[in-house]
Amino acid sequence: MRYTFGPINSRRFGRSLGIDLSPGTKSCTFDCLYCELAPAKPTGKIPDPPPPEPILHEVRQQLARFRDLDVLTITANGEPTLYPYLDQLIEGLHQIKGKSQLLILSNASRIINPSLRASLAKLDMVKLSLDCATQRCFQRLDRPMKGIKIQSIIQGMERFRQEYRGMLIIEILVVQGINDKESEFRALNEALQRIRPDRVDIGTIDRPPAYRVAPVTYQRLFELSRSIHNLPLAILTRHTDQTASPITLTSQELLHLLAHRPLSQEDVHILLAPETRNLLQELVNQGRVWLEQRGKISFYRAKSS
Ligand code: SF4
Repeated sequence: MRYTFGPINSRRFGRSLGIDLSPGTKSCTFDCLYCELAPAKPTGKIPDPPPPEPILHEVRQQLARFRDLDVLTITANGEPTLYPYLDQLIEGLHQIKGKSQLLILSNASRIINPSLRASLAKLDMVKLSLDCATQRCFQRLDRPMKGIKIQSIIQGMERFRQEYRGMLIIEILVVQGINDKESEFRALNEALQRIRPDRVDIGTIDRPPAYRVAPVTYQRLFELSRSIHNLPLAILTRHTDQTASPITLTSQELLHLLAHRPLSQEDVHILLAPETRNLLQELVNQGRVWLEQRGKISFYRAKSS
């Protein structure tokens, strides 16, 4: 198989078949410090992009083989929105996908482009990256192609949210010493309040990065996540072993926390002490806290008092 990989089981999206639109060399508008691919100069083009037909043919074969796929994930050896036949491919995938949902993982560098937004709006789920909200941090961490401005990306995300009815997820990847500052998270919160995504995923480095950078602890991710208000936010990391002692809260504190910061089931398990988890269950039984589904992740929420 040349254009597809997996299926893999993803905590966030379920059972996923990956579709790679640039199986040759890495082609990306960024050169992120944490990239899992080898370092490479940013580019605005995929050299020799494959036409959609052989990709669709292969996806059809895989769909016949794996009948329990939750999502078909459009990705690339780099940035998938650089693929010049993206709209045609999405149309073709819609014809064959059956019950699976269509998802794209993008760095959002081209989201200011209206025709690209119109193509992405045809997808069931769109996951866009937003690691920084200030140009300085963006330049240091994501190392974009010359001329790409983080404020244009944020503006493009805002417009996309107004046009798009599907599930919009924004992902923040935190790197030690770069975007792990409260000030950066306050700027990110301002941007996210304007964008209003359905879910925010926040994580850190999990796999060997392209450059010498380090992850932050789960505890630090949690502290930083408290700057993001009133949006379902999932902390995604395998570094849970670094967590400090679980937190003990009263019912009032728990209600206050959940009103401002919905917690995923997984985060509840990692963060809260057993007696606080029992309290949470009581609040659910009383109807004062409820579970809300955002993609494959369920969040505990409460009304603000
Ligand atoms: S946007 Fe993704 S593919 Fe591109 S450099 Fe960053 S991590 Fe790598």
